[in-house]
Amino acid sequence: MDRLCVILFGPPGAGKGTQARFAKQCLNGPHISTGDMLRERVQSGDPLGRKVSGIMQSGQLVPDELVNQMVADRIDRADCAAGFILDGYPRTEEQAAVLKEMLAARSVRPMVVYLKVDYNKIIARLSGRRLCPQCGALYSVSSNPPRVSEVCDYDGSKLAVRDDDREEVVRERLVAYDRESRPVLDYFRRSGFSFCEVDGDSGTPQSIGNQICALIQAETAGGQVRRT
Ligand code: AMP
Repeated sequence: MDRLCVILFGPPGAGKGTQARFAKQCLNGPHISTGDMLRERVQSGDPLGRKVSGIMQSGQLVPDELVNQMVADRIDRADCAAGFILDGYPRTEEQAAVLKEMLAARSVRPMVVYLKVDYNKIIARLSGRRLCPQCGALYSVSSNPPRVSEVCDYDGSKLAVRDDDREEVVRERLVAYDRESRPVLDYFRRSGFSFCEVDGDSGTPQSIGNQICALIQAETAGGQVRRT
């Protein structure tokens, strides 16, 4: 098997999106975030977007079959030829089982990177997150604030809180994670996916990114050894 699929797994707010951007530097493939893809569909107002918008706003999970199909279509695109990074998928055992088949059919080797973090830190981090509705820049009121409070540094737009970053919705997303996504960890272990755990509270985003890159490089080298 030549291609590697890095599955960044962990609760919402663990830093999967940030880490995916670091991981892209050591794996020659795209960052595929199902949350971003779904938000784009909601913004575009297409039929799928209209169907999932209310579900997303309440912090619940979108039905498996919609997300599975979206991912299957995405990983067949040419930019995934050398490998890819999944962020926010799979989130249920059903999705994990479908992904396992999808990868086997395409000769792609899965590697799970589990980002472990404290829930109280997640609630503080997500409810302090701000987004520029105009250019998409992300800020954090504690660790990366804009120069002028609540105003985008780049275009002066008033910053917004993403609907699903409101504290009550964050709590609902963590409940959904505990109920539906944590069991996926056992599924990964049972299915023999290559699995490693990283302490997401253990350092700066950059230093955690370095740890993840080292793991990906070791996995890639291990895969080459296994193939010869
Ligand atoms: P995220 O940005 O990954 O936290 O995702 C935001 C929202 O999109 C989630 O709260 C879900 O409503 C939806 N979503 C994203 N990925 C999935 C998935 N794999 N399965 C079901 N719903 C998802």
